[in-house]
This record gives sequence, C-alpha cells and structure tokens, in this order.
Amino acid sequence: MKDNREVSEEREDYLTTLRHSTAHVMAQAVKELFPGVKLAIGPPIEDGFYYDFDYEGTFSEEDLPRIEERMREIVRRDLPFVRQEMDREEAIRFFEERGEDYKVEILRGIDDEKVTLYWQGDFVDLCRGPHVPSTGEVKAFKLLSVAGAYWRGDEHNKMLQRIYGTAFPTEEELERFLHRLEEAKRRDHRKLGKELDLFGFYEEAGPGLVIYHHKGALIRSLLEELSRREHLKRGYQLVIGPHILKAELWKRSGHYDYYREHMYFTEVEGQEYALKPMNCLAHILVYRSRQRSYRELPLRFFELGTVHRHERSGVLHGLLRAREFTQDDAHIFCRSDQLHEEIREILHFVQEMMELFGFSYEVEVSTRPEKYIGSDEDWERATRSLVEVLEQEGLPYQVNEGEGAFYGPKIDIKLKDALGRKWQCATIQCDFSLPERFSLEYVGSDGERHRPVMIHRVIFGAMERFIGVLVEHFAGAFPLWLSPVQVKVLTITDRHIPYGERVLEELLSRDIRAEGDFRNEKLGYKVREAQLEKIPYMLVVGDKEVEAGTVTPRERSGKNLGAMKLEEFIEMILPQCRLPSLKGGERR
Ligand SMILES: [Zn+2]
Ligand SMILES: [Zn+2]
Repeated sequence: MKDNREVSEEREDYLTTLRHSTAHVMAQAVKELFPGVKLAIGPPIEDGFYYDFDYEGTFSEEDLPRIEERMREIVRRDLPFVRQEMDREEAIRFFEERGEDYKVEILRGIDDEKVTLYWQGDFVDLCRGPHVPSTGEVKAFKLLSVAGAYWRGDEHNKMLQRIYGTAFPTEEELERFLHRLEEAKRRDHRKLGKELDLFGFYEEAGPGLVIYHHKGALIRSLLEELSRREHLKRGYQLVIGPHILKAELWKRSGHYDYYREHMYFTEVEGQEYALKPMNCLAHILVYRSRQRSYRELPLRFFELGTVHRHERSGVLHGLLRAREFTQDDAHIFCRSDQLHEEIREILHFVQEMMELFGFSYEVEVSTRPEKYIGSDEDWERATRSLVEVLEQEGLPYQVNEGEGAFYGPKIDIKLKDALGRKWQCATIQCDFSLPERFSLEYVGSDGERHRPVMIHRVIFGAMERFIGVLVEHFAGAFPLWLSPVQVKVLTITDRHIPYGERVLEELLSRDIRAEGDFRNEKLGYKVREAQLEKIPYMLVVGDKEVEAGTVTPRERSGKNLGAMKLEEFIEMILPQCRLPSLKGGERR
C-alpha cells in the first residue's frame, strides 16, 4: 500500500508533467497565431508553467483569450506527443533551418551526443520530456499573465516575452486555484504597502531597496522592539557590528571565495572593504575579544543586523526579495554537549513567535552534502541533535538528504500563511567551519583548549520579508498591537470638534496610537476611508456622545459596540494595544 507521501509525490509528478505538456500546447498555439515567433524555454513551475517567446510585437493580456481558444482547438485535435532521438549536431542544423536560434544556443551548450525532440502534429520542441500521451489529455487550463523576462535571466541579454499559465486535472481544481490567486492578488504586499502607505520602492533610489513610510517604519520598529525584548529575556546579549569590514576578514571566513558575486565592495584609504552580506564576523570578533571559559558558554550574541546582498534584478520581489534587509540574527557559541539544549530553546522561541501571529509551519532538516568540512563525528552529533529535538518535541519534519550547507546541517522552518502558502523564515544552522577558520577556542573544565560549536539562527529571518508575509497573511488588517493607527476619532459635524480633540488627547496620553478625522465630510465617507486603512477601532462622536461624555466604538469589520464611557473603552482595548510578551523567557 502507498503511504500519503507517495500518493502526494505521484500527484506532484503528474501535475508537473501535465503543466509542462500544456506549455507545449501553448507554444504551438502561439506559433500558429503569431508567425515569426521564436521559442526559448517553457518549464513547469510551482503552481503552473510559463513559456518564453522572442516576438517582434508585444503580447498583451488581451491576446490571452485568443491563445487559449487556439489551445482548446489543439486539445481537440488530440495530437500524440511523439519522441524523436537525434544527434546533437543534426538537431543544431534542424533548428537552424527553422530559425529557432534559442534552441540552437541551448544545444550548443549541451555535451550530450544524443538529444530528444518531441512532436505534436507539426509542432516540434527540443525537450527531455516526459509528457502526457496526447494533447487531448490537457483539460483544465488558464493563461494568467504576460511579463518581460531576459533570456537566461541575464539583463545583458535580449528581453523576451513570458506567458504564464496553469493547468489542473479537473475544472474544479482549476476554479479553486483561480479563487486563491484572486485572493493572493488582493493581499499582495506591494499593492497593500502602497494603499496603506507602509513603504515604497523608488527607481531613483535603486531596485531592491525599500523605503519605509511612517506607518511601515512603525510596524518595523514594533517588531524590532518585540524581538529585542524577547531575546534579552532568553539570555541573548545585544551586539552591534559595522556595515563594512575589511576584505581580509571575508577572505578568512570563505565568503570572498564562495559568496563573492553576492557582495558589494568598496575601498577606504587604499584598503578593500566589503559591505557585510551576513552578520557573523563581527560576532566572531566579539567572541575572540578575550579568552573564553567553558563556564561562560553558551554565549548568545544577537543583532538586528542590516545586510546587503546582490540579487539579480530579475529575481527581486518587493519585500520578499530585496537587496538590503535586516535580520534578527544571532550566533550562539556553545560546547557540543550544549548543542541539544540550545536547539530546543531556539525551536521553542520560533514556535511561540509564530503562534503569536497565527502561523502554522512545517519543519525541514537538511543533512550532510557530498562536499563538506568538519569531522563525520561532528556532523553526526549535530544532525542527531537537530533530529532528536524535533522528535522529542513531537514536531513532524521532512529530511532533505544531502542538502545542508557544506559547513553544517540545518533546520528550516516554513510558515504557512492564511492562504496556505509556504514561506521560508526561521533557520537554525550548525557551523563547524567558522570556528575552525577563526581558531575559536574556550578553556574546558579539563584546562585544555577546545573548539566551540557555532549556531547561526534567525527567527523572523529578514524583517523585510517577514513584514511582507505579515501584510499578506493579515491582508493589511494587523492585530491591534501592530496596527500603526489603533484608533481613529471621527466627528459628525464641526461642532463636535472640541470634544473630539479632548478624546484624541486622552487616547494619546494613554499611549494609544490615535488619529482624528475632523474634516467637514460626510460620516459615511470618513468611516469608509478608515475601514480601507484597516484601522481597528473608530470612535464616532456626535451630539449624543458630547452630551453624555461617551464614545461609540466601531470595529473595522463594521460591528458597532454601542455607546460607552471613554475610560471604559480605553480599559477594554489597552491590554491588546501593548506589545505582547511571550511566555518562553520565564523558564530561565
Ligand atoms: Zn517537453
Ligand atoms: Zn551567521
């Protein structure tokens, strides 16, 4: 009998094959409708497929229904996918004759002597397969969007036109997916970020560089405050490193050799410096600043560290993938017999933090790759620690065999948001390499020098990314404590302004983030605007309220709570206005 995982893997394989086959059908439709189009590549991707075309004109969303119509016709033709093997040289001539320059370029980059072509009718593509048996098996599909994409993702190459689509075995599944997609569009953090005045990206400043507006900056500060406080509670020590460090240091760490293309370099007084892509090195220098004894360990250094990484402009994606971001980063230096307990503590920390935001999550363990450093014994101990803790905590996990970094195994925690989408955030990584490269030591109870183990870990991951995920998870309606404006006071007419101002003052004096809307506008209009801003509470003040000295709170959902004394309202919301406190630190 097959277990669930096998069934779901089989389904994944089938979906991939189906979607890839649909990409062939789309390419055929495009070739038929737009003569002169050249084919680049058309792989399946998560949730669908795309195909890149080189075309003189421009595809627009309006072309998609026409292409879909032709695709349906090709499906009705029920053309079998026919495999043909060819010598590579012969294939190059074949595609040259057909003017398929990109296929020729791909073929020139392949070493194989034999390659495979797949035919459906008179359409042919260079492909490894596999495909469904015939175009008739393609049933429920939809073309989704058009975008520019550089050939091979390199901005020095020609800009091609990419058409995205998706396919499912049934119409119902397709409908469900499209519904989810609509919801994801509505929640897109780039769209909401603009609408809610949280942050922006500016061409003048440069791609991948976020500028926080006041409300976004406030959210960021609140999260940082929460993070700092929870770390201090758990025995972490706050440290702060510089943004640039000498290139020599990055050579010693290995980044200069292994990570160079993601780094930015500069020169100061004839010395080469690098903008830090990671926060580890300053923490290592703090560790090395004096002799360490086994009694001091574990040492946990924490920093809200801003890093810069060069990402190709094609992969940048709002807050989710930026060139500058700040990590809630910590490095723990411990004895190997402490590793287990440290990992357990970190996992609890992650769990509590994620529960606070209502995220569920999945855990993945990545183990020793083919090329690695450190002794087998170290690897075994570290991997065992990671797995044992997960087992003890009863956390289900998936093992990614051989996918750890060359310097140590790791745990990745993938959040699941309100739409069931997964996001990589927290990571716990054991490291044998840096302690070795920097000759880190401590004096053991035996009076001998020993090498500590180093753990790199983040909880939120990148603040930018986490905020992007939060915006989409909450669809912009943040919990009260995280809302940039918690209460808005709305007057009905001008004569209610003096009372409105008194209410506002009282709220502000109680540390509640409040704003007033005293404009001479219709109440309905003001309410609607506050709702669009996703402000948790609106306080409407009119004649009745002025007379009785009350307020009438409305929730952003539209629920009216009825008139009450201002003090009563404040007492009611105050506890949830404050930064929450996680339980975890209390165990220490
Ligand atoms: Zn194919
Ligand atoms: Zn690190």
